[in-house]
Amino acid sequence: MTTRHAACSCGQLHLTIEGDPTRISMCHCLECQRRTGAVLSNQARFRREQVTITGKAAAWTRKAESGNALTFHFCPTCGSTVYWENEGFPELFAVAIGNFADPDFPAPTIAVWEEARHPWVSLPSGTPPARFAKQG
Ligand SMILES: [Zn+2]
Ligand SMILES: [Zn+2]
Repeated sequence: MTTRHAACSCGQLHLTIEGDPTRISMCHCLECQRRTGAVLSNQARFRREQVTITGKAAAWTRKAESGNALTFHFCPTCGSTVYWENEGFPELFAVAIGNFADPDFPAPTIAVWEEARHPWVSLPSGTPPARFAKQG
């Protein structure tokens, strides 16, 4: 089974994850742009039992357009958001792909909130150019 590690910038908040993600997506929405400081966010979902968390995390919660509460967990020292929960999918954690610092991490296969995509951002070939759901 594949073991992956995700961490914040300073390294104190650390996730060890066993097995593969159930979904890998990118989101172009303006909320994700503000949260990440980047023009899109990339995330992989894992079942909670796949994830072991060490270190301290602070949290904040906002409501998604779907009405679901999203709770983001970030390092109180360096501010990096490493993982989050969506009350619509309580059995899952979403983990930011960049926090794996692994260029070989599999590419997203789903893109959401395309209407907010910066026009110079192109998608991996094979990514469905349709929004599946507004979740963030
Ligand atoms: Zn940190
Ligand atoms: Zn988003």
